[in-house]
Amino acid sequence: MSVGSENMTAQAPAIRSKPLILRHLPYFMAAAVLVALAAGMRFDGYILNILMQATTFSIAVFGLSVVLGLCGQINLAQAAFFGFGAYAMAIGTADLHMSYWLCLVAGCLVALVAGAFLGMSTLRLGGHYLAMVTISFQQIVTLVMINAIWLTHGPDGVSNIGRPQLFSNSQSYLAFCVAVLAIVGYLVWHLPDTKLGRAMRAVRDNELAAGVNGIDVFRTKIAAFGICAVLGGLAGGLFAGGFAYISPDQFAFSDSIVFLTMALLGGVASPIGSAIGTGLLILIPEWLRFLKSVPGLYLAIYGLFVILIIRFMPDGIWGFVAGAFERWRAKTQAPPAKRALVLKPATTGGDIVLEVRGLSKHFGGLKAVDGVDIAVRRGGVHALIGPNGSGKTTTLNVLSGLYKATSGVILLDGTDITNMPPHRRTAAGLGRTFQNIRLFRSMTALENVEIGAERPGNKMIGQGGAASLTERAMEALTFVGLGHRANEVITSFSYGHQRLIEIARALAGNPTLLLLDEPAAGLNSTEKLELHELLKRIAAQGLTILIIDHDMTLVSEAAQHITVLNFGRRIADGESVAVLRHPDVVSAYLGSE
Ligand code: ADP
Ligand code: MG
Repeated sequence: MSVGSENMTAQAPAIRSKPLILRHLPYFMAAAVLVALAAGMRFDGYILNILMQATTFSIAVFGLSVVLGLCGQINLAQAAFFGFGAYAMAIGTADLHMSYWLCLVAGCLVALVAGAFLGMSTLRLGGHYLAMVTISFQQIVTLVMINAIWLTHGPDGVSNIGRPQLFSNSQSYLAFCVAVLAIVGYLVWHLPDTKLGRAMRAVRDNELAAGVNGIDVFRTKIAAFGICAVLGGLAGGLFAGGFAYISPDQFAFSDSIVFLTMALLGGVASPIGSAIGTGLLILIPEWLRFLKSVPGLYLAIYGLFVILIIRFMPDGIWGFVAGAFERWRAKTQAPPAKRALVLKPATTGGDIVLEVRGLSKHFGGLKAVDGVDIAVRRGGVHALIGPNGSGKTTTLNVLSGLYKATSGVILLDGTDITNMPPHRRTAAGLGRTFQNIRLFRSMTALENVEIGAERPGNKMIGQGGAASLTERAMEALTFVGLGHRANEVITSFSYGHQRLIEIARALAGNPTLLLLDEPAAGLNSTEKLELHELLKRIAAQGLTILIIDHDMTLVSEAAQHITVLNFGRRIADGESVAVLRHPDVVSAYLGSE
């Protein structure tokens, strides 16, 4: 494998071909046609109302496609954020005679602040708690809308809501809303390809793995929640301007559920799905209008329709279509990497890359790790071994910040990382894999490795490194022998190959120290040999490895230095050969003798 010889420097720019705007010209042309249609066609009032509702609702549902579809966080209060925007517009233009634009911005800001505040206070809880807190929030907002009569006019609602001069007739206002929809749709559509979007998908798929790959999980969730709230506020402002009258019953919990159903029906993962779902859920009741003479029948058929779609297309209508496309794309191959992966671990600090002093982790009375010292020398393979339950994984979890140390100090390359959250340790140079593989399961192999390549502080992209994030990820995948399957989703890989992808994900970030937790567990003998060979190639590039493994052949051949734990305590430490003969080690493993 020829490393570094092939055009190291000449490559870097050049790759970006057309500017984004040009590549997406067809999208903008289609959007322009829609805007022109909205402005030019002479709709009757009924159709106009339906279109206005569909347009503004879609923007609010886009918010859910960000928070739920991309980031996996539930928000059952989107109607409340929608209401913030609508009331800011209503009170601002009708009561305070302020400018429409100012009110639109104010509504977004109020929604953003409320969303960020709600997010900051609850996003650490996640799951069911988040659902409950957002429902409570929604109920409180509804109560305020009904009862703060001095501000909101109470159940009577607000009328005479203003519009900008330029769009004073309904037809031109609709065109304006369609234009906003097109712009927001474009941004949301491309969000998954940005750094923030990738972080959101990683958080949705596996929070722990996201953290140890350098992603600030909490901040990412708040960003998703904030974007969702802002889109709710924006949509509400547009809605209020469109209908000139609002009342509290339009922003109730049931409306939050309607928004959610719209998102799920069309496919929450994409704004296209959100738009389809919104359109359908507004149109179906209209289509079924003729049934309204028979009480109950209408609701039953409507409900059945929704249930059938969600039952047979669990990823929504668009998810169903996009899934077929993804399967087709998986068969196409990514262009091969242009050069071999270069690992250039940082070389600041001294001879010792990782210094652990007096490290303890207690779970209640159980001392899982108890005053352990470890010194990992730069550029070697250091093994951490011990019987099951001796505290190896716990040690690694404390090192990477998933658990907080009860006591002790951890120095990585001279930096005290003892109290850092996982993503900051990763930025400081830590890379790791998990004993029970933690990949981002809805993504392709390449996308998984791209997340690792994006590690803050990775200097191997740009000047003198890979030309792009994708290029770096391809190099790492090729390095572990899976470059030709880059576009396949994780679920199509064998257990052993998933391990290799996890290692590639860590390598792509060019860490200073790589922590491997039982990489050989569950592999067959051929895969074990491949793994062994891979470890040698990694070590040959000077990357320091701290490895946990049960396979004594692998350990004795690969590692120069071994630390042995038993019942959370260090019972031996030193050169491999000497340690493996140590009587305490032999008896810990074999029971006696
Ligand atoms: P090893 O990886 O060496 O097999 P572990 O570090 O996983 O061992 O576990 C060490 C001890 O700590 C075990 O007794 C285990 O049950 C306990 N332990 C590990 N994680 C937790 C936890 N989150 N809560 C309570 N006990 C734990
Ligand atoms: Mg373990």
